[in-house]
Amino acid sequence: MKLVTYSNGTETRVGVVDVDAGEVRDIGDLLPAGSGMLEVIENWSSLQGAITTQAPSQPSVPLEKVRLLAPIPTPRRDIFCVGKNYREHVAEFGRSGYDQPDRSEALPEDPVVFTKATTSVTGPFDDIDPHSGVTSELDYEAELAVIIGTGGRGISYDDALDHVWGYTIVNDVTARDLQRKHKQWTIGKSLDTHCPMGPYAVTADEIVDVTALRVESHVNGAARQSAAVKDLIFDIPELISVLSAGITLLPGDVIATGTPAGVGIGFDPPRFLSSGDVVEVSITGLGAQRNRIA
Ligand code: MG
Repeated sequence: MKLVTYSNGTETRVGVVDVDAGEVRDIGDLLPAGSGMLEVIENWSSLQGAITTQAPSQPSVPLEKVRLLAPIPTPRRDIFCVGKNYREHVAEFGRSGYDQPDRSEALPEDPVVFTKATTSVTGPFDDIDPHSGVTSELDYEAELAVIIGTGGRGISYDDALDHVWGYTIVNDVTARDLQRKHKQWTIGKSLDTHCPMGPYAVTADEIVDVTALRVESHVNGAARQSAAVKDLIFDIPELISVLSAGITLLPGDVIATGTPAGVGIGFDPPRFLSSGDVVEVSITGLGAQRNRIA
């Protein structure tokens, strides 16, 4: 099932998308009053039955008539992100000199984890703010993001996928100059609008083999990144087990799993984004997002 958060012009609603029909079914009447996507995810075990059977008979709106927002427009807390999790990207990042201070092309021995502020989240088709005057080195990172369903601490590798509610797409937009300048990555990764998310939150049951999904990006129509999720250095169960070892994961937590080679700093000279550029990120079965640099 593909769920969306959308604006009908006056209200923010939750719906189920039928991609082939090009329409969204408003499921607001099937949810407790005031529910957004976070409540849907948290109460999925009790809501899933009604949504599955009754969504097809709910009022429909053509997709082109609504504005899709990030599936989780305001996450409960910052988004967990994994750096340097595809081999070729580790190499290009090391060569670029932006991985201060070590300029290393060595593979990480443990997952490199940072977060993006909740206020960086923006819609799948919204403009990205270039933040001129704050950064002049804007880059893109196409990533598969995991959405946690059942939370927990000390989740084992073998149980990890049982805690996954679903998947979405995240563009881990990065201000490279700030990432390098401040050593720790929070500022360089967290500028407002620098986390386009969506278009859909896709339930895990719709993805037969997540490792077979392909993560791709294009800039102004030209292919930049393309890799299979099976190429992750630290796979999804390992990321969940490492993160949850001492941190309680919560329903609705988002974990961006890392980006493949082909980002702007992978080129010599680097190809940074500028106003008017259009970045598209797509993943098999999860749709595509398309954001213009304002
Ligand atoms: Mg990233």
